Amino acid sequence: MLAYTYREPGKFVLEEKKKPELQNLQDAIVKVTLASICSSDIHIKHGAVPRAVPGITIGHEMVGIVEKVGSEVTSVKPGDRVTVNVETFCGECFFCENGYVNNCTDENGGWALGCRIDGGQAEYVRVPYADQGLNRIADSVTNEEALFVGDVLATGFWAAKISEIGHQDTVVILGGGPTGICTLLCVMLKNPKSIILCEVDPDRIAFVKEHYPDVLVVNPKEVDVENFVREHSEHGGADRVLEVAGSPQTFELAWKLARPNAIVTVVALYEEAQSLPLPRMYGKNLIFKTGGVDGCDCDEILRLIEEKKIDTTPLITHEFPLQEIEKAYEILENRKEKVIKVAIRCI
Ligand SMILES: [Zn+2]
Ligand SMILES: [Zn+2]
Repeated sequence: MLAYTYREPGKFVLEEKKKPELQNLQDAIVKVTLASICSSDIHIKHGAVPRAVPGITIGHEMVGIVEKVGSEVTSVKPGDRVTVNVETFCGECFFCENGYVNNCTDENGGWALGCRIDGGQAEYVRVPYADQGLNRIADSVTNEEALFVGDVLATGFWAAKISEIGHQDTVVILGGGPTGICTLLCVMLKNPKSIILCEVDPDRIAFVKEHYPDVLVVNPKEVDVENFVREHSEHGGADRVLEVAGSPQTFELAWKLARPNAIVTVVALYEEAQSLPLPRMYGKNLIFKTGGVDGCDCDEILRLIEEKKIDTTPLITHEFPLQEIEKAYEILENRKEKVIKVAIRCI
């Protein structure tokens, strides 16, 4: 089968590999119908994910059809249409039982697919702990509608959930890329008083303005964002800040835009260390929540999609067959043609 493979930093190649087989009783083999490319894949390409193992198939965002299951798998059966979770988790350890599935203590716990074990920019993928890693897609939900459930949308959902957003809150979202927009969609479900989205890319600004006209969009290259947020919030800054962009500038903005005692949720994956200037922040008493998605709400997300409360299909701006995945990366890495997300057809 064809599989897009991480060879060494800077180099991904589309190559022939053996079709994966079941290795454990809890595994499933999924025929990938539609996959996507995540910015984390590009981080791997740049060598910024030290855990990534050369030789593995890239890809951790996909939907497919279950082809085979191990004898201990009970939640899905061959023929089911499913979303694949970015995270592998056993469902039984201390962290899993508390919903912190990103920290599952299994040797493949957390983000393993397309990083430490073979992922899904391929024709088939082996999914460990299939009862946890796969969620069935309702008949009325299309593959396109479900494509982002296991990763970017799960991340946005988790970010909104842990930010403890109330109806009186002014929420700032830093970053209007795919994860930023998924975060925005999930923040909108919380009905905060106002949402301010901060983005510099004119195409992304236009996309957000076109699709979500109630959101205030600011470009820090044109506007003094600190002033803007102060003027558009009641207590001298945002009640909640969600940092989804991942640059040193946005990391700094995140704590600067927050009012005292605000929650700052940092979900971005940075390519370098960031500094927390604690002397300057002293007395602001901020609550920081950081890290990688606990992707255990996929059934709820799928239900929200079924009820038409979340629609991420406008994010799919490009579609390519697996054979042309190179071109998809080229467009995405260089942000050509107003790209937001690409869908890769694997069959
Ligand atoms: Zn991802
Ligand atoms: Zn676990």
